[in-house]
Amino acid sequence: PFDVLVVGGGPSGASAAIYTARKGLRTGVVAERFGGQIQETLGIDNFISVKHTEGPKLAASLEEHVKDYDVDVMNLQRAKDIKKNDLFEVELESGAVLKSKAVILSTGARWRNVNVPGEQEFKNKGVAYCPHCDGPLFEGKDVAVIGGGNSGIEAAIDLAGIVKHVTVLEFMPELKADEVLQKRLYSLPNVTVLKNVQTKEITGTDKVTGITCVDRATQEETHIELQGVFVQIGLVPNTDWLEGTVERTRVGEIIVDKYGATSVPGLYAAGDCTNSPYKQIIISMGSGATAALGAFDYLIRN
Ligand code: FAD
Repeated sequence: PFDVLVVGGGPSGASAAIYTARKGLRTGVVAERFGGQIQETLGIDNFISVKHTEGPKLAASLEEHVKDYDVDVMNLQRAKDIKKNDLFEVELESGAVLKSKAVILSTGARWRNVNVPGEQEFKNKGVAYCPHCDGPLFEGKDVAVIGGGNSGIEAAIDLAGIVKHVTVLEFMPELKADEVLQKRLYSLPNVTVLKNVQTKEITGTDKVTGITCVDRATQEETHIELQGVFVQIGLVPNTDWLEGTVERTRVGEIIVDKYGATSVPGLYAAGDCTNSPYKQIIISMGSGATAALGAFDYLIRN
């Protein structure tokens, strides 16, 4: 058996594996796709000490760094169940069962898509999901934010300080964001809020040039010319397979304490799959290190 099995091979999982391997623990990593979300990322400008890099390049360095240690990397393998007997038993979709004394969950999250024409086509060409990451690319330009919940309105307020103009598109008749955020939003001069509208299409040539939406009451169609669309309709943690095994929030994030420990002794979690309030590469790497040290402390006591 492993001492520590890491489930997930994104920034948090890679960091956790390096930390446990450096403690001399027998470490395995199972990943559906090594690298995780950064495989989808074009430019990364906020990974501190690296001025600019690209997702696939960072993913390759993560893998190289992990493989510099005696870590058993099992790529293209999806975990589907976890049980705890004497040891943890992680069952893979292939049918294999991996045993380990401790487990670190680092299965990340995915942005919910709006699923309209143009979204996939213009991903990284004007369609964005992370205002902290991509906001500065739209300096002086016009953008839309799809989604009027807390994350959408936070994004709109954030972007309004960088871009020329922000249009918020909310599907329901009212914004769902907290009152204090709405107040702040409406105090800004360069924001327009459209409620009760459905996004129909993101238009473009080689890059985004506009968005088409329909007023749900009148069926009137509007086309807005702009250069960027931020989709902010939710980040979904990849934790469905853990249903009933570990404590999660209402939206499915694994609840961890400051050691990265979950509700199950010996089971740790890190990165975007947890209830960490901010989801970023540098933050997930830090939490991977925390969970690894937490798991090490657990193992020397048990
Ligand atoms: P992930 O990167 O999501 O990795 C999860 C891992 O778990 C993957 O290997 C996945 O295949 C695996 N997995 C999932 N389910 C299973 C399962 N059941 N069994 C086995 N393996 C599984 N952050 C920044 O700091 N700067 C940026 O510029 C930036 N840009 C971004 C741009 C885009 C388009 C996106 C989508 C995100 C961006 N982010 C950025 C956010 C950043 O990528 C994430 O915060 C970070 O990748 C989280 O790392 P993680 O290891 O927690 O999860």
